[in-house]
Amino acid sequence: MKKIAILGSTGSIGTQTLEIVRDNPDLQVVGLAAGTNIELLEKQVREFQPRLVSLQNEADCRALKTKLADMDVQIIPGMEGLLAIAEMEEAQTLVTAIVGMIGIRPTIAAIKKGKDIALANKETLVTAGHIIMPLADEMGVSILPVDSEHSAIFQSMQGAQTDRVSKLLITASGGPFRGRTRQELEQVRLEDALKHPNWSMGHKITIDSATLVNKGLEVMEAKWLFGVDLDQIQVVVHPQSIIHSMVEYVDGGIIAQLGTPDMKLPIQYALFYPDRRPMAGKRVDFYELGSITFEKPDLETFVGLKLAMRAASEGGSVPTVFNAANERAVSLFLNRKIRFLQIPEIIEMCMDVHRRIESPNVEEILRTEQETYELIHAKYPDGA
Ligand code: NDP
Repeated sequence: MKKIAILGSTGSIGTQTLEIVRDNPDLQVVGLAAGTNIELLEKQVREFQPRLVSLQNEADCRALKTKLADMDVQIIPGMEGLLAIAEMEEAQTLVTAIVGMIGIRPTIAAIKKGKDIALANKETLVTAGHIIMPLADEMGVSILPVDSEHSAIFQSMQGAQTDRVSKLLITASGGPFRGRTRQELEQVRLEDALKHPNWSMGHKITIDSATLVNKGLEVMEAKWLFGVDLDQIQVVVHPQSIIHSMVEYVDGGIIAQLGTPDMKLPIQYALFYPDRRPMAGKRVDFYELGSITFEKPDLETFVGLKLAMRAASEGGSVPTVFNAANERAVSLFLNRKIRFLQIPEIIEMCMDVHRRIESPNVEEILRTEQETYELIHAKYPDGA
């Protein structure tokens, strides 16, 4: 029996993780954390019977306690709850399916307790990769990627010598606005940006896919996960999302992982690694598919990716500014306070005024996040 805890159980990755638990009786859930979705968390507790759960605020925790009065479950609010779940004695693996930098402290806490991390929460590596990766090394724990591109790279590296890797090729669908000009992007609506061509995901990451910011975050995530230099990572637009990413080796050979776009495969791979379990679902039919295509990303239209590359190369606290500014800008866009093209404008404005810290500790990362939020709030007070 493998025991797991999940941060962000009510979200897109969290609920798909629980579907895998449902299909695999040798997985047991011992802890669940969510933000504000009391109704779904209640259902999850009744079905999966974890010992410990958490919601973001105290009032919601009290309400949940009342609903679950007939059950033997401990409920702890906020960061205290996230940390308690991350550190649960009985859990072997923590699934970090929470969104945002709030995942940093629980991820570090879990690593310090020797838990493997099934990592979806890319923001933690983007902003604190320089802390998390050495710590994981020191503690001998595995950081198993859940993001489909990173899982594809990880799968393409099995059995290979990592010092023989010459390049990581991260594929991108190009999002709903691939091929559009800047002028055409001026007037795009929220509803259009939320229509991802291939993947069904949470709202924040769907907008990040439309701006290509998500690809930029993935480049930074890959740099930390696989210990490569930035110039060894190339983004390739591949609209059909069948190749989930590739690894080029020093002899020119390229190994890729392919499949239909379904997050359950990378989640399941992370949970059972190195085992592969059967999974129902649609298979790639190459006769039906016919052809797949590739393009260079348009960095002049999708400035978000260009800014991400700048943040990655400047390093230090700059990726935190990039990530925090994007989080707030996306939230403003989701609340219809700004236009689509203002998302990268806000990110650039925040990056331009920031005074870089070389190797920020967790407090400095969280302070930089806060300062970035305050800068944006001063400009858009009724916004995010
Ligand atoms: P969702 O928005 O669907 O879910 C986020 C989860 O985090 C929800 O359970 C939410 O709870 C919870 N949460 C948010 N804020 C807090 C908080 N303050 N305290 C506790 N819980 C909180 O996001 P996704 O599942 O799409 O993404 C999760 C992470 O995985 C992100 O980092 C994303 O970049 C990454 N990822 C996602 C992919 C996808 O396919 N969705 C693919 C690859 C990576 P509630 O709903 O109850 O408020």
